[in-house]
Amino acid sequence: MKNKILYIWAITIVIILSSIIILQGKISNNTEKSISDKIIAFEKIDKIIESKDNITNKTTDDVAIAEKEIPIINKNIKEKQTIFVCPVPKKEYEDMWLLNIGQDTGLSDTTYIPKDLEKISSTYSARTNICLTTSALENLKIMLNAAKKDGYTIKVTSAFRTFEYQTGLLKIAKDNGNLDANLSISKPGYSEHQLGTAVDLSGLSINFSGADNAFNGTKEAEWLEEHASDYGFIESYPKDKSDITGYIYEPWHYRYIGRENAKLIKEKEQTISEFLTK
Ligand SMILES: [Zn+2]
Repeated sequence: MKNKILYIWAITIVIILSSIIILQGKISNNTEKSISDKIIAFEKIDKIIESKDNITNKTTDDVAIAEKEIPIINKNIKEKQTIFVCPVPKKEYEDMWLLNIGQDTGLSDTTYIPKDLEKISSTYSARTNICLTTSALENLKIMLNAAKKDGYTIKVTSAFRTFEYQTGLLKIAKDNGNLDANLSISKPGYSEHQLGTAVDLSGLSINFSGADNAFNGTKEAEWLEEHASDYGFIESYPKDKSDITGYIYEPWHYRYIGRENAKLIKEKEQTISEFLTK
């Protein structure tokens, strides 16, 4: 009899253990997203239940009400989570990251999109859904972390722009009466931003206002002028170089050109276009 009871216990334990293993397997098979969706959904359910007046215990009714909400919540989550993906080239392009691009030299193919664009996270970007090439982004993160360590919060306000986006940008500026817009906004197909390696930066001291002359002279701008080249970034349109660059002074606009190149450019006090015109 005793043996029989022991035997039943053993079987029960085996069944429980197997169920746990199977359940864990199922959970790990779920995607990260569906788990987070569920967590959000359940957090919302908790809130719905909590918000019900004078209810200290979760009654069956509350759970039923909450469960009715699940499909609605899930639908809302789905709608809100239209996941942003950086543009991907539809054909193969030659890598143009070292192209000497300027007022007179544009991309040979205006549809150009770099092949390795990555989204910049909110830690480093003041705007959502903007992208940079992998190597530029890696170095940008290291640079902005170093700035933060020195006490300056700097973020990206603009990065990769498609040909179409640039077209729209210039049109808006001109429509708003800025007839000299070409001096600060590149013609479509002529923008360093389309290379996926250029960024506009701003600082906390001016509330991350983008492409803003107020950035000039801020501690963040000074920090960048001193240190950006250590991380491979060079100011594309420096002060007093408009005759060479063709653009007004833009203390916010930096281009990733590689650490070795940046070091040489800084040493020689050249502009990027002078350096690339060999
Ligand atoms: Zn720019």
